[in-house]
Amino acid sequence: MAGNDGTTTRRCILAGIAALLAVLSPDCDTARAEDKPPISKDIVVTLLGTGAPMPSPTRFGPATLVQVGGLNLLFDAGRGVTVRLFQLGLSSGKGIDAVFLTHYHSDHVAGLPDLWMTGYIFGPFGSRAKAMRLWGPSDGTTAPSGVAKIAKGLAEAFSDDVLIRQADEQIPAAATQIEVHDFHGDRVVFDEAGVRVTAFAVDHGDLIKPSVGYRIDYGARSVTISGDTKFDENLIRHATGTDLLIHEVFAMSEQLAKLPQLRPVAAHHTSPEEAGMVFSRVKPKLAAYSHIVLLGTEVRELLSRTQSTYQGPLEAGEDLMRFTIGDRVVATRWQPELRKYPD
Ligand SMILES: [Zn+2]
Ligand SMILES: [Zn+2]
Repeated sequence: MAGNDGTTTRRCILAGIAALLAVLSPDCDTARAEDKPPISKDIVVTLLGTGAPMPSPTRFGPATLVQVGGLNLLFDAGRGVTVRLFQLGLSSGKGIDAVFLTHYHSDHVAGLPDLWMTGYIFGPFGSRAKAMRLWGPSDGTTAPSGVAKIAKGLAEAFSDDVLIRQADEQIPAAATQIEVHDFHGDRVVFDEAGVRVTAFAVDHGDLIKPSVGYRIDYGARSVTISGDTKFDENLIRHATGTDLLIHEVFAMSEQLAKLPQLRPVAAHHTSPEEAGMVFSRVKPKLAAYSHIVLLGTEVRELLSRTQSTYQGPLEAGEDLMRFTIGDRVVATRWQPELRKYPD
């Protein structure tokens, strides 16, 4: 009888764990996604956030997930990034292999503390066992880089959480670390599993340096992410031949363009007409907007203004829009009511 009791107890414990994981899962009636994408020669890119500093409920802060060569790479960590990963069934912790920042404006890093801390909590949304790996540009001087300061500052600001969870929940110390990779100049910054990430300087304004974009190459496929930039020749040089070009845009109405207060902000970004000129030079298989700022205007006008200088394939990004880069680049929209992509 003791053996039966033991079996029953074990069954109960297993059922309890299963119930706990079901509760913790993003959607109890769908299976969770695998934490690592299958290895394929295609690249899958998902826009996790297509907004900017404005706290929009429909456009979260800038963040782009690139699933390539069996890796999950994250570019920028704007507001809500952890929520979007959860919607996809992906862990913010063990699911993410590397995080790359384009620059240190708040909208691009606001979600980073959440990503880091939620990532080390036990559960399908976390459970990172190792350090979070974080890449970002430095200015090339001996001064600490933005990523070095962020890593040091997060450890200091949230030391109570780190210590409490290590003592109370037995979170491994390694999981709470941040591994800093800073770099300067245009160069390959990541080369693993056949995936090459190249950073290149972009022009976001004289006072907003360093600022970079990234190009990700895998076999014959590639995607380029502009970061925040004005019209920039260096971006065109690095993006040439890319399959998918994800570019920022800042569009405002003629009336608002007259306001002197908005001019300095607009001067740090790319207008739809300028972005169209970039697309016409780069000739990607698909051009897509993310980091979309619309002031007194709307998506329809954004597209038509772009088409005045570019007649190729174009998408205005939406949160959770997904691009599959194969021989063609195919865009798929998230179905919010079904909480999935179309079959
Ligand atoms: Zn920005
Ligand atoms: Zn910026």
